[in-house]
Amino acid sequence: MRILLVEDDALLADGLARALGQSGYLVDVAGDGKTADTWLENETYDLAILDLGLPGLDGADVLQRLRARRQRVPVLILSAREALEERVRVLDLGADDYLVKPVALAELEARVRALIRRAQGAPDPAIRLGRLTLDTVGKRAWLDGEALDLTAREWAALEFLAQRVNRIVNKDQIMQALYSWEDEITPNAVEKFISRLRTKLEPAGIVIRTVRGLGYYLEKPHKADNAQV
Ligand code: CA
Repeated sequence: MRILLVEDDALLADGLARALGQSGYLVDVAGDGKTADTWLENETYDLAILDLGLPGLDGADVLQRLRARRQRVPVLILSAREALEERVRVLDLGADDYLVKPVALAELEARVRALIRRAQGAPDPAIRLGRLTLDTVGKRAWLDGEALDLTAREWAALEFLAQRVNRIVNKDQIMQALYSWEDEITPNAVEKFISRLRTKLEPAGIVIRTVRGLGYYLEKPHKADNAQV
């Protein structure tokens, strides 16, 4: 899951990015409105956390431009402004949630999870695919009730594919989901993740198909596999 954090207070941004990173999110930090606007237009995010008081383009302007482009990425406003009319105004501009600073990290993370779940049309935080179960809150996977040993990136790739069962995703989409700006990406990194995931999943009948020239998809397990749960 990739999050854009828009916050001009460098210390706060750093602390939040670190905490969210430890929870398994990939976080890009934008320190001003113009950068946020450009990234939102050109990158794929699962959520944006947006401050209102920003240099250059104001947070409300960023939000307005985002919604004017008909982009649906969920937006959580995190602002020191607590006036009722301000909260109403940005919610009406298309924000999905509003938290007033200072915020408890546990609450911020719970709201982040809820917004992402809702955006993906999956109110249940668990994904069940045949003998495979993914806990999107705890970020763990089980095969037949046995915990799967996955690295953070393998987990992210699996979650990305599992949320799009039977839908082809291309390498670019996977790379965008797995890497933030700070990472060096090699072209065959995705292939390596997929290959390692296959090794771990295929004994349980969970299959990741390659569609030549297009990408990959996780195949919906057959009924017979479901019966073994
Ligand atoms: Ca600010």
